[in-house]
Amino acid sequence: MNENMEIIENGCIIIKDDKMVFVGIEKDFDTQLSALSFQQTIDARHKVIMPGLINTHTHAAMSLLRNYADDLALEDWLNKKIFPAEEKLTPASVYWGSMLSIIEMIRTGTTCFADQYFFMEEVAKAVNESGIRANLSRGLLCFDMGFDPKTDMRLLETRELHKNWHNKADGRIKISVAPHSVYTCIPKYLHASAELAKELGVGIHIHLAETKFEADQCIKVNGRSVIEHCNNMGIFDVPTIGAHCIHLSDLDIEIMSRKKVNAANNPGSNLKLASGIARVPEMIKKGVNVSLGTDGPASNNNLDMFEELRLATLISKGYYMDPLVVDAAQGLRMATVNGAKTLGIEKEVGQIKAGMKADLIILDTNRPQYVPDNNMISALAYSSNSTDVETVIVNGKVLMENRELKTIDQEKVFFEASKEAKRLVK
Ligand SMILES: [Zn+2]
Repeated sequence: MNENMEIIENGCIIIKDDKMVFVGIEKDFDTQLSALSFQQTIDARHKVIMPGLINTHTHAAMSLLRNYADDLALEDWLNKKIFPAEEKLTPASVYWGSMLSIIEMIRTGTTCFADQYFFMEEVAKAVNESGIRANLSRGLLCFDMGFDPKTDMRLLETRELHKNWHNKADGRIKISVAPHSVYTCIPKYLHASAELAKELGVGIHIHLAETKFEADQCIKVNGRSVIEHCNNMGIFDVPTIGAHCIHLSDLDIEIMSRKKVNAANNPGSNLKLASGIARVPEMIKKGVNVSLGTDGPASNNNLDMFEELRLATLISKGYYMDPLVVDAAQGLRMATVNGAKTLGIEKEVGQIKAGMKADLIILDTNRPQYVPDNNMISALAYSSNSTDVETVIVNGKVLMENRELKTIDQEKVFFEASKEAKRLVK
């Protein structure tokens, strides 16, 4: 996933602890490293090894509300269905919902995800136990003009989450500050969130210009666009994961480029909730880093990043009526290396390179959709499907081998998650 989209044929990777220590062809490995003895060897002949996919925007525990309220407008979906069900959330429901999503992510080749939700200590526990990598943030909503940043319960919880989990679980967990959006946070609160992120030395994870309603409302109430408003509130003074970024003016895109705001594009959710189509090629052209996310599994309704990467490329081609606007390589980079950049961990993951963390997936290419072998980049972007993912490694640890999960009891999770889901939607 480097600039040249280099492919190493008959290659070999050596992993020591959490890192790749050798990436190259087997011949070089024989001479340099044949003296080493290995704990485990994985034969990947007739297979492809690629960096694990990075889902840069989701609400994992919303898997519990999957297929419960569909075919509604975002405002109705949120206000009439999702928010009332979420009132009944408990730490246990968030734990089991997150675990359920982590199973789906591992099975479909995702090795890292950015999550914004409630009871985040439970999500951190699930991430810690399962072995996946994550950027976690407590969703912050505030309409109270009299709030005090020193005593505000949600900001205090964010501090606590940061203290307990930032850089923990062998460095797999990072914490962000997550003001939910401009329509759920008063301006003072957005500002206080940015100040907290600065103080903690972490980034922001926020929904930006997801619906036309949000964009129009922001201009009406604050006299400026969502992007201008967030910029004024200091949000973009720290690294920002901007989820959606659909209803943007040319000026907005310029601000995002100048302030290095990362756009987490969620084509599946945006289509399903009819929120609109992001101006991905124009953002890329202006130098904005664009990555991919599934959004919560209640608005997608899955966490399949191979599907998302295909949607992202196809939608742009169709919408702009130009097959050249987003190509296969760009799609793959959005799902991997750009995702790492969005989460500020591009020095650690997103590529296969000696010295980087071993976050890898192995796909079985001995399947009809990979024959003939004309172009592997195209095959991975356009022909593959997530069931080709056979083995998943995160931080040097095998989480799934030959489709068998190594760290999670799937039956127990299915049972507990189904039980919690029934209680929420009753
Ligand atoms: Zn979202």
